[in-house]
Formats: sequence, C-alpha cells, structure tokens
Amino acid sequence: MNQTTRDLPVVDALRLPEEIRALLRPDELLADRAGRQHRLPRFFYEVRSWSQAKELLLTPHVRLSELLIVDSREAPRLLEDFPHYVPCAVSLLARIIEDLRAKVGAPVFVAANGGYRSPAHRLSVHASPHLWAAAADIYRVGDTWLNTQSSVEKYGTLARELLPDVNVLPFGHQPGETDDHLHLALGYLRAVPAGCDERGSELNSGNPGATLPALLAPSPFESASAQTS
Ligand SMILES: [Zn+2]
Repeated sequence: MNQTTRDLPVVDALRLPEEIRALLRPDELLADRAGRQHRLPRFFYEVRSWSQAKELLLTPHVRLSELLIVDSREAPRLLEDFPHYVPCAVSLLARIIEDLRAKVGAPVFVAANGGYRSPAHRLSVHASPHLWAAAADIYRVGDTWLNTQSSVEKYGTLARELLPDVNVLPFGHQPGETDDHLHLALGYLRAVPAGCDERGSELNSGNPGATLPALLAPSPFESASAQTS
C-alpha cells in the first residue's frame, strides 16, 4: 500500500540540530521583493529517503518527490543527504495540483526548483511561497507547454476557479512575471498540524543557537492541574 503524509513524522524545526536549523531558519522573518516580512515555516515532514519520497502519495496522483526536485543550487546537505525536511503545507499544495489535474483531465508537471526549496537555496534571495512549500511552478499540462501568454493565462484562470485566493504571476519577462511556467501559490502558508506545540518560538527566533529549556519542564498549567486533581 502507498504511504501518505500520515506515515511521515512531523518535526519541530526549532529542535533540529544547529546544522539543519541554520539552513531551514524556522520562524525567522524573511523579506519578499517588496520588503514585506514573512515568518518562515516551523513544522516539517521528515523524509528518510528518496525512494520514500517517490513512493509517497500526497494525493491520489501527486507524489511527494515531484515537489522536492531541486538542483545544485540547493544547500548540499539538503540536496544530497537524508533525512530531508519539507514544510507541512506541501500537502495542501498537492491538493490544488490534484484538483487542477482533475479539472483539466490531464497530468500537471512541476519544474525542478519549482516546488519546495529551502531558504538556503541560491534562488531564495527573497521570501517566496516556494520556501513554505506553498507554491508550484507548472511548466506543462498534458501536452501543452506553459510558455505563451495564452496558455499561462488559461491555466491560471482555471486554478483560480478552483480557489479564488490562489495567486498566479502574470505572463511577462520582468521580475515578478513568468514566461516559461505558471507560478501558482497559496501564499505564505504556515501549516501547523494538530498535535504540534507552538510554544518556544519566542525563545529561539533570531537566535539559532538558543535551546528551549522551558519546553523540557511541565508547563505551569499542567503542574497546577496535577496538584488539584
Ligand atoms: Zn514560482
């Protein structure tokens, strides 16, 4: 039977080893092209091997590996070594790709570096929803290459019919435009699966070397209830 995200551990990246934290920069602010600040993801799926990524179905047709393909512009540790880490929003991104596939009745192809890429990737100069695993660069749908204004606009419109809040970049050759793919994005989506605990962010943000001693002790609320029960 195929694996799903339910088979992947969810990790709090603030608790990962320093070497990984320095690359993923969980909960740090990063500016977009216009100077607006966005907080990077904190909770990630842990992927233990490339074969697991290839076998794992995010939705009936979208495999995790399709959204993880990067080239040598990614940090070597995140490109070559496992485990890999991918923000939990990736499952919602897959859902919109799956729905687009169903709507058009044809496979949807995501470009290399066009799914999740880390803040350490050399294309990650500015904040982009790709760093949140909340954007996909689609270069082909069925037999249609998305390298013309009409094809980019056609599939952008179809994606917005599925979800009006989907952001698509306009066709063009300038920064913030695309001429060889459709950039489809859900925004700076921070997914926090049920069961995750968001305490401790304030201790670590801006200080990657900090530890989280407060999380190692029971919270005051737990202590109080233990005394009174
Ligand atoms: Zn893009």
